[in-house]
Parts: sequence; structure tokens; C-alpha cells
Amino acid sequence: MHKDRPKTPSEVKRKLRQHARFGCCGCGLPIYQYHHIVPYSEDQHFRVADMMLLCPLCHDKATKGVFSDAQQREMQETPFNVRNGLAGGMLHTRQNYCAVLAGGVLMVGEGPVITVNGESVLTLNPDEGGHVRLSATLRDRSGNLVALIEDNEWLSGDTAVWDMESDHQKLVIRSAANQVALNLNMKGEPAHLRAKFWQDGYMVDLRGIGIRVNGVGAGQQISEGVALAGMTMDIDTRIPSVQLVPQLQKGLVVSEPDPLQRLKRAAEAWRKLKSEEPGSTGPH
Ligand SMILES: [Zn+2]
Repeated sequence: MHKDRPKTPSEVKRKLRQHARFGCCGCGLPIYQYHHIVPYSEDQHFRVADMMLLCPLCHDKATKGVFSDAQQREMQETPFNVRNGLAGGMLHTRQNYCAVLAGGVLMVGEGPVITVNGESVLTLNPDEGGHVRLSATLRDRSGNLVALIEDNEWLSGDTAVWDMESDHQKLVIRSAANQVALNLNMKGEPAHLRAKFWQDGYMVDLRGIGIRVNGVGAGQQISEGVALAGMTMDIDTRIPSVQLVPQLQKGLVVSEPDPLQRLKRAAEAWRKLKSEEPGSTGPH
């Protein structure tokens, strides 16, 4: 990151995302950066034709000269997702909300999914025709920020310690020695989220049923058969416990034993909450 360089204008970013169909031009990974094919140091520009979407790993190769100019032009002209006929990009929802199953809890809404001790760890926002924007703040055991992702843009983090892979609708980000891991599978509705990360020296594990903090179960009050509409799970690592924080002015807890009905009812509850927000155009 160059401190004296102005940020890439959001309109330019939007065009680059659409052109690349929401993935790295080289490999399709839905976590990316905005690369200058004509280096900014040589020409202070934000021309869409001379820029492209690249994941942090491909970006590193491009800036180190592993990809020649000709190769970069080829990637820009026919991005990975275009080449492979992936029309919709990878992190996609057919709804105008995100439905996620995390730690066995169904969550329907938009915005922060999980916060830990008040700090946002994972946020999902539907945008641009159902493309999901992912934001994540990932720390290691010692509390160091190891990756910062904002709206699918990899803002910082040493790419050498990360392993990232994706196929259509699935994203896996894993640190060396598997200390931190994020696995988002959006093949169905709800999406499945499995994650393991650290906050303030505590390990938070969302890889199975239930939420575990340093191996101890938290959030037992959120029983099976419950869905959260418009709610963030805020994990307090010290007790450990889980508080439910509304994403909008208020949130709703839906209790329904049948999984399909649960999703349907939580989605309805979310639409209602959204329509009741000030400034909303109301239900259609
Ligand atoms: Zn890539």
C-alpha cells in the first residue's frame, strides 16, 4: 500500500469487478485487489483498461514480474470467470439477504455475522445483483492482525502465510499450520460457514455444531431449531457467552423445528424488519 497514493475510485472498482465477474482475472478467487497493469509509479492513472482484479497471490506474482505484460493483458481481456463461463461470480446469493449456517445456528440478515468482544470478525452484505461482499478481520493467537478483508478486497496480510482456494461458490482461506481458517460454502441456501480464529488470546471455533471458546461451549441459550433474523452473534470470550445484537433497529428470534420452514420464516421475519426500518420503501 502506498500512503501517498489516492484510493482507487469506487466507480472504477465497480467496473473492474463487473468486468472480471467478481473474481481474480488469473484464478477466479473472489478475494482480490485492484492491480495496475501500467504501474501507478510510472503513470498516475485509474484507467479501467489498464487495471484488473487480481487475488493477493496473483497480484504478488504480477508485481514481481512473474506474469509478463503480455500475459497480464491476456488475463485482463479474458478474466478467469469469463474464460470458464462463470456468469455470476463465486460468492452469490439469489436473495437480497444472506442466509448463513454458523455453529449450527441459522442466521438471516445483512451486516456483521460474528463479532467477538465487540470487534467485528465477519460481515456479509448482499450487493450488485446478489453478489456477496465479505469483510473479515482475522487475528492469530498472539492477537496480531493477520488478514484484513473489506468488501472482498484484501487490504493487508502477508500472503506468504496464507493458503486460499475456491471453486464455484466456495471459498477457503487457511493460515499456515491451520491456526486461522475460514470456509464459506455458498452452493446452497443457507450458506455454510466454518471458521476458527483468535481474539484476545482465545480460540473461537465455529467448525461444528455450537460455538466453542478455548474448547468450552458458548451460546447454549441459542437452542437447536432457532434462527436469528437480523441479529449478530457477539461472542464474549471471557465468560464465555453469546449475546444477540440487532443488525438494524431490532432483530427477531424464530423458533421452528423444521429446517426448511425455519429458513422460510426467518427470511420473512428479515423482510419485515427491513421494511420497518426508517427510510425503507416498505413491503412490496
Ligand atoms: Zn488469483
